[in-house]
Amino acid sequence: MHTSCEKASLEVCRQAAEYLKKGEIAAIPTETVYGLAADATNGQAVKKIFEAKGRPQDNPLISHISSMEMLPMVWRKVTPQAKALAEAFWPGPLTIILPRSELLADEVCAGLPTAAVRWPSHPVAQQVIALAGVPLAAPSANTSGSPSPTTAESVMQDMAGKIPMVVDGGTCEVGVESTVVSLAGQTPLLLRPGGVTKEELERVLGCEVKLSDAVLHQLQEGEKPASPGMKYRHYAPNARVLIVQGSSAQYCEYVKAHAEEGDCALCFEEDVKALSGIACIPYGKEGDGVSQAHGLFAALRALDEKHVKTAYARCPQQSGISLAVYNRLLRAAAFQVVQV
Ligand code: AMP
Ligand code: MG
Repeated sequence: MHTSCEKASLEVCRQAAEYLKKGEIAAIPTETVYGLAADATNGQAVKKIFEAKGRPQDNPLISHISSMEMLPMVWRKVTPQAKALAEAFWPGPLTIILPRSELLADEVCAGLPTAAVRWPSHPVAQQVIALAGVPLAAPSANTSGSPSPTTAESVMQDMAGKIPMVVDGGTCEVGVESTVVSLAGQTPLLLRPGGVTKEELERVLGCEVKLSDAVLHQLQEGEKPASPGMKYRHYAPNARVLIVQGSSAQYCEYVKAHAEEGDCALCFEEDVKALSGIACIPYGKEGDGVSQAHGLFAALRALDEKHVKTAYARCPQQSGISLAVYNRLLRAAAFQVVQV
């Protein structure tokens, strides 16, 4: 299949919406990462997403809307908590889970009684959804398991030949996937950290948001995660990634003592100077979660472009947006962390 990659314009958004209405799939930019979209009410179309990504069938998808009027197509009803979060953070990088509507294709929910929904802020995503006139199921537009794409070029690397079209909307602003919060249980549960922080959610809800165990810990054999996606190897480059936890000085010393030919430092910009003689791929600034989130996936992809053997990753903080960065890095590193 020939894949066209077109700079976003009204005409190109129309073309993408036409594909989607016909039951085809297309990659579109969002403010988090690029998404591989299909009509969320069309099961046959949604199946094509799973095929193109090689995504396990039991991993449900997020449905993307472009107005509150679309909510009855995805949820049975909107609760007061969901309304409060939607008013505070939509459009934006927050996904909310509630009991599903029967109008959604079963494939989107992967057998669960709930549906994950988000209203993205990216104008191109909004335009394509509005023109298609239906919620769009859209997981990240990468091969299952590899780092999520934050540019149209990265989408093309993974998806050329597998999908008809990529809409190029430039580099994604946030750079990591949306925060996922479930409101389907007794208390709000944070299933995946992202651009909207736990602290921000708690401020709006006026109650504690529980952090799902799987955010920071590896699931045990046979353990059932609240979010099916969390059990899979994720965001992983071919390189071996090792997280090194410590101050800048401790980190640099460790890397200098251990790095061999073909290895590199996946560090902060401030560390580069102290690491002279070592190949460096910086992924953001120290203490600045926004810049780290923005740079992480491109840095992980760069490891493979440079055929890096082992990458020693500087450990981000575990609060605010850095918690989202740490969560992705842990999975890229298969939970390998050394304390120095
Ligand atoms: P992605 O589409 O690749 O950004 O991944 C979506 C994430 O949301 C995955 O980790 C899914 O397992 C999770 N997810 C989607 N729908 C639900 C749901 N109904 N209940 C729990 N987790 C969900
Ligand atoms: Mg993904």
